[in-house]
Amino acid sequence: MLELPEIETYKKLLSEQIINKLITEVRVAEEKLVNLDPAEFVNELTGQEVLFIERRGKFLLFHLDNGRRLLLHLGLTGSMHYGPQEDEEHQTGHLAIAFGTNVLSFNGLRQGYLHMLSVKDADSILSDLGPELLDRRMTLAKFKELFNKKRGMLKSALVQQNFVAGLGNVYADEIAFDAALLPSVKLQELSEETIERLYRSVQHVLTEAIEQGGVGEQHFSADDTLTGGYRQQIRVYDREGQSCPRCGAKIQKTEVGSRKTYFCGECQGEH
Ligand SMILES: [Zn+2]
Repeated sequence: MLELPEIETYKKLLSEQIINKLITEVRVAEEKLVNLDPAEFVNELTGQEVLFIERRGKFLLFHLDNGRRLLLHLGLTGSMHYGPQEDEEHQTGHLAIAFGTNVLSFNGLRQGYLHMLSVKDADSILSDLGPELLDRRMTLAKFKELFNKKRGMLKSALVQQNFVAGLGNVYADEIAFDAALLPSVKLQELSEETIERLYRSVQHVLTEAIEQGGVGEQHFSADDTLTGGYRQQIRVYDREGQSCPRCGAKIQKTEVGSRKTYFCGECQGEH
């Protein structure tokens, strides 16, 4: 359940800790997570510094001082931990990057990966993604243009990474709830006013979720008080049978485009 707000939270926490710090050691325990021969990967990364970190969709892109890029995708269940070498989280890590006495370790990366790429290759992979929903360039006019052209169900469109980048089941359901729209509504049937309401909900839900650290469950470091702060704000996702915070009806669970979907059948409608 790592979507735009959770990855943005990692970006914030990582940036506070590792920027411009020398990478002193790299350990690859799971070879399939990296795209190079592990020895070559270790060799290329050791002695580098991360100049800055960029988020694109559900990806993080580490800009290294040798001009290369590290592209991270945490998959569905990945997590990162940062702290002193002796922390037990590091013992089971699939991959670890040491910055002097502190270590950044990656866990649970079942479908995730960390790839060393040229700028060109990284750009080419990321160019398949749709636009960023919180980018300054995503104005109401741009959003309307995008959604007016799109056909199909709201939920399916929101989670389609090459349409808009970064959303999954959690925030697609929360946004639909906030906009009082059924996740199964057809975009081609929405009025201009409704699309505008949807735009406000996208901005509102994602901005709040980022400010409150998303819904992640694994803490990044011992002093991380940010991660997971948005969990108690979740209004429909994974709340089947509980009362709708807006109207009191029972939250229902269904499938939309073969994805599990939570909604309130009373206060979420078709326009
Ligand atoms: Zn309701």
